[in-house]
Amino acid sequence: MAGLINHLNAIRSFFNTGGTRPSDFRKQQLLRLKESILKYEEALSNALFSDLHKSKEEVWITETGMVLSEINACIKSLDEWMAPQPVPTNFVNIPGKSYLLPEPLGVVLIIAPWNYPFQLLFMPLIGAIAAGNCVVLKPSELTPATEKIMGQIIAETFAPNYILYAPGEGAVLIPELMDAFRYDHVFYTGSTAVGRIIYQKAAAQLTPATLELGGKSPCIITRNASLKVAAKRIVNIKFSNAGQMCITPDYLLVHHSVKEALIRQLKATILKFYGEHPITSYDYGRIVNKKHFNRLRNLMEGQTILHGGEHNEEQLFIAPTLLDAPSMEAPVMKEEIFGPLLPVIGYGSDEEALARIRQNENPLALYVFTSDKKEADHWLQQVPFGGGCVNTAAMHYLNKNLPFGGRGNSGIGRYHGRFSFETFSHIKGILKAQTWPDIPLAYPTLKGKLKTLKKVI
Ligand code: NAD
Repeated sequence: MAGLINHLNAIRSFFNTGGTRPSDFRKQQLLRLKESILKYEEALSNALFSDLHKSKEEVWITETGMVLSEINACIKSLDEWMAPQPVPTNFVNIPGKSYLLPEPLGVVLIIAPWNYPFQLLFMPLIGAIAAGNCVVLKPSELTPATEKIMGQIIAETFAPNYILYAPGEGAVLIPELMDAFRYDHVFYTGSTAVGRIIYQKAAAQLTPATLELGGKSPCIITRNASLKVAAKRIVNIKFSNAGQMCITPDYLLVHHSVKEALIRQLKATILKFYGEHPITSYDYGRIVNKKHFNRLRNLMEGQTILHGGEHNEEQLFIAPTLLDAPSMEAPVMKEEIFGPLLPVIGYGSDEEALARIRQNENPLALYVFTSDKKEADHWLQQVPFGGGCVNTAAMHYLNKNLPFGGRGNSGIGRYHGRFSFETFSHIKGILKAQTWPDIPLAYPTLKGKLKTLKKVI
């Protein structure tokens, strides 16, 4: 414990030297990080296969490729982001100049989950480095092979008084990390339940926090949807990483008139993508551990299975599974599924669908499949949610120009691209006044000046 506090104090001291502030320093660190990731690309891929059965192609799309692309974009735009941004000056302050001045927050703590263990730790790290901060990184303990390689990357690339890697069991380590030291920001990705603990700990020290949480993201398929495309895109995203994705469609709301046709398309697509025996598929993942495997098996219990349902505990395998219209009172409709089970629920009217969505308010994402633009806009406005897509799912995550984050239950704050830089910066509002003219109107005595003041202000 004393050792940990000494480490954290050393980080604070390094930050106070101002060494992280110059743009060149930040870019150099990002370049070093890029080189290390490239060096460890194969090791990371093997580790992610061992932890979650991810193929090297999937690792590139959802983990390493994303992170490298974020580094490139950051390096390219950093000078523009760091530059003071002029804003108009109000009448009483003319001829002064007003501008926004971003500055680093200080020492930030980043906590990551296990489902994309590399990407979800390194994406916020890039933003924190770009914004000129020192960082403490807490990876998930549930993906040990990846945890080990990430530790090697960080230790080889950065001095521990700049970026400290702190692996360990969350329930034990996080209180140690957070009670002993005041961070300038905490960035947490994980479950809503643990998010609440983190938020309380941060609040105790008045530390601002970004929370990237989970929830039940609905996917609406209206009678005007192109069903073949909808089925392909839904199956592709829902069963990627065996459904262990925060922005995966949690359940489908399908207009009654197209429900049977969509189910046929979903079944055919699952067969096409993963074959008769998905357990042998190159593209199909595994559940992270026995605890989650059992949780998912329990969620299936008593449900009508339209497709799939096979499972193998030894291999932590659960087949892509379609469930027919579970009751809204069933656990599978009350908690985030976070696995390869997809409830398909019919609806007759928009009001009925909306009432179902409202049972799990503020989802992280919302997806609408329809060819009717007005209908799409209607749904985008009806539901409060973090971010989403029309006629596809999860792909908004890949666009760095869109802020990524939840709302209330599903999160607080946003990141990716410039939004990450802003999350890890404090934006100072600055007015630079002139010493001439020095108008007497604003000085005491104000007596008798009301008429003029009313004109000016
Ligand atoms: P988790 O909350 O169990 O763990 C996340 C982190 O918190 C880990 O580093 C863990 O060590 C730590 N932790 C666990 N228990 C703790 C405790 N009692 N006290 C303090 N720290 C603790 O989450 P998870 O199971 O790793 O991830 C799954 C959840 O994360 C899902 O709900 C999913 O939707 C969500 N998620 C959200 C996003 C997003 O970007 N919004 C991305 C991925 C996952």
